[in-house]
Amino acid sequence: MLHPQELIDGFGRHIEDMRVSVIDKCNFRCTYCMPAEGLRWLKNDEVLSFDEIERIVRIAVQRGIRQIRLTGGEPTVRAGLPELIERLVHLPGLQAVSLTTNGFLLRRLAKDLADAGLTRINVSLDTLVQQKFEHITRRNHLSEVLAGLEELEKYPTISPIKVNAVAIRGFTDEEVLEFARFARRKPYVVRFIEFMPLDADESWTPEMILTGKELHDMIHAVYPLLPRDAAPASTSRVYQFADGKGEIGFINPVSEPFCSTCNRIRITADGQLRTCLFSRWETDLRGPLRENHSDDEIGALMLRAVQQKEMKHRINDPGFVRANRSMSQIGG
Ligand code: SAM
Ligand code: SF4
Repeated sequence: MLHPQELIDGFGRHIEDMRVSVIDKCNFRCTYCMPAEGLRWLKNDEVLSFDEIERIVRIAVQRGIRQIRLTGGEPTVRAGLPELIERLVHLPGLQAVSLTTNGFLLRRLAKDLADAGLTRINVSLDTLVQQKFEHITRRNHLSEVLAGLEELEKYPTISPIKVNAVAIRGFTDEEVLEFARFARRKPYVVRFIEFMPLDADESWTPEMILTGKELHDMIHAVYPLLPRDAAPASTSRVYQFADGKGEIGFINPVSEPFCSTCNRIRITADGQLRTCLFSRWETDLRGPLRENHSDDEIGALMLRAVQQKEMKHRINDPGFVRANRSMSQIGG
C-alpha cells in the first residue's frame, strides 16, 4: 500500500534514490571540484550525526526510497563510516547501500566496509598516469587508489566495482584507450561522466565537455562495443566489449540529460535536502530534527520539497545559473 507521503514529484517521478553526504571535508583537491586551499568546512556540530542520518534515511525509506548512496566530500574520512553502513543496511525496505569514494583509504577500509554489509561501490579515478593524477587531484596518491581497488577485489560481496572518470577535453581523450584496456584487464566497470559546471573554481566552460558519444566512438573504433540493456532510471549507457572482455559505460548528463527519469534527491552533510544537483534552494531537515519534530512532520517536509523538484537542469539553456554549492558541498 502506498504511504500517504510517498515521495512522488510534480511530474510523476517516483523518488527512490537518495544520496547522503556524510562529510564535506576531503583528502583530495580535485581541480574540477575544490579549490587548492579547500573550502570553508562545516563545524562538527553542523554535520549530521549518525543518529540523525539514520533517522532521515528511515523516514525516507518508509516513503519509497530504495537505494542510499553515501558520499561527500570524501566519505571514508568520516570516522566510523562502517558503523553507519551497518546501521543502514539493516533498515527494513532498503534494498542497497552504496558508497562513492576517491579510493585513497580503501586498502585500509575495504574489509570493514564489506563486513558492514556494503554491496556496491564507485571509485573515482580520472587518470591512470601518475603525473596527470597529481595534477588533477593535487595529491600524489595514484598507487594507493589502485591498491585500494585491488583490495576490494578480495571481497566479492561488494560487486560490481565501478570506476568513474570525469571526462574533460584535452585531458581524458588522450587516455581513453588506456582506460578501455584497464576495463578489459580488470574486473571493474569503468564509466566516464561528463564534466558539469559544479566546480568551486567556476572554471568550467562548455568547450571542456568531452561527450560520451565521442568517447564511445573512439573506443568502438579499436575495441568494438555492444550496448547492454539498462533500467529506465539508469543514468549510464553501458556497453560490453564485443569479445566479452569487460564492460564500459558513459554517463552523459550534459549531452543527453536523463532528467525526465531522474529519481534522485540529495541530503547534504549539514542536513539540507536538495532535489537537483543544480538546485538554488534547499529544505532544512536538520533544524526540525533537532527541534524534535515527529517522523510525519519530517516526512511532510521531504514530500513538499520533492513536489517542487525541478523538471530538468538548464545547463544547455541560455542564461543558465550555477548551483549555489559546489559538488563536494552537495554530495555528488
Ligand atoms: N570524494 C568522493 C569521490 O570523489 O568519489 C565522493 C564525492 S565526489 C563530489 C562524487 C563524484 O562527483 C566523483 O566521482 C567526482 O568525480 C564527481 N564530480 C565532482 N565534481 C564534478 C564535476 N564538476 N562534474 C562532474 N563530476 C564531478
Ligand atoms: Fe574530494 Fe571527491 Fe571532490 Fe575530488 S571529487 S575533491 S575526491 S570530493
